[in-house]
Amino acid sequence: MPDPSSGTLSKIIAIANQKGGVGKTTTAINLGAALAAEGFPILIVDLDPQGNASTGLGLESAARGLTTYDLLLEDAPIDEVIRPTKVPGLSIAPATTDLSSADIELVANEKRSFLLRDALRQPALRRHRFSFILIDCPPSLSLLTVNAMVAADSVLVPLQSEFYALEGLSQLLLTVRQVRQSANPALRIEGVVLTMYDRRNNLSQQVESDARENLGELVFNTIIPRNVRISEAPSYAMPVLEYDPASKGALAYRDLARELLARNGIEQKERVQA
Ligand code: ADP
Ligand code: MG
Repeated sequence: MPDPSSGTLSKIIAIANQKGGVGKTTTAINLGAALAAEGFPILIVDLDPQGNASTGLGLESAARGLTTYDLLLEDAPIDEVIRPTKVPGLSIAPATTDLSSADIELVANEKRSFLLRDALRQPALRRHRFSFILIDCPPSLSLLTVNAMVAADSVLVPLQSEFYALEGLSQLLLTVRQVRQSANPALRIEGVVLTMYDRRNNLSQQVESDARENLGELVFNTIIPRNVRISEAPSYAMPVLEYDPASKGALAYRDLARELLARNGIEQKERVQA
């Protein structure tokens, strides 16, 4: 993989888990913000019709203009879909509820699984020099999630530290294998990150030990704690790194960003001080 800090487009990561409420969107926003804070330009692609990543970064529906729906189904130029956010180095391709009809509209399309991949191959994207593109997937293994996996280099799986967390994971991994066989042989698992972890709760510890036992090194060392500042931040349309930079949640997402960079063999850039 080329070094993302060299300014060439290099890694597309789909953040996926067909369960809702496990921390996909939270991870997209805050991992994105943390990587941006390390000096790596980031694009978040909002592929969930609920548009939570877009709202959480301050893009009100009315102000969204062209969206990922237009990107997939209307051949919209990528430049007209990408919007800056208030977070330096962090851009978003927003979504609105329009996208909820995409799954049905895509079925009849011959290229239905390849539309996002092809959209992200538009030469205009290169000029933005994004180091990472993080795709926030919907809570299903629908065609939208398949589009994300076909377009991606890897899949990052947030795992909520709750009972039944590991259930459903085999289905997700099966989908990854199917996408590998049919459309994207190079697709890898970036890793599994435990979210909403509560140290005082035996259940969290049980989920952690089960995950580490079953998935080994795929599980990130960094664990995202349950932290109220993380859940408050979206209502202020900010990543937790901006809302409360000293909070446990912000520190955990910084650690996750650094672990992800290290796992990819990427040296951290010198932090540019403003
Ligand atoms: P998904 O995108 O998988 O549906 P979200 O990222 O939207 O899940 O998270 C679901 C809810 O849990 C949101 O209200 C979010 O603010 C909250 N949440 C996510 N991660 C944490 C955390 N580490 N601590 C506290 N609340 C969290
Ligand atoms: Mg979400």
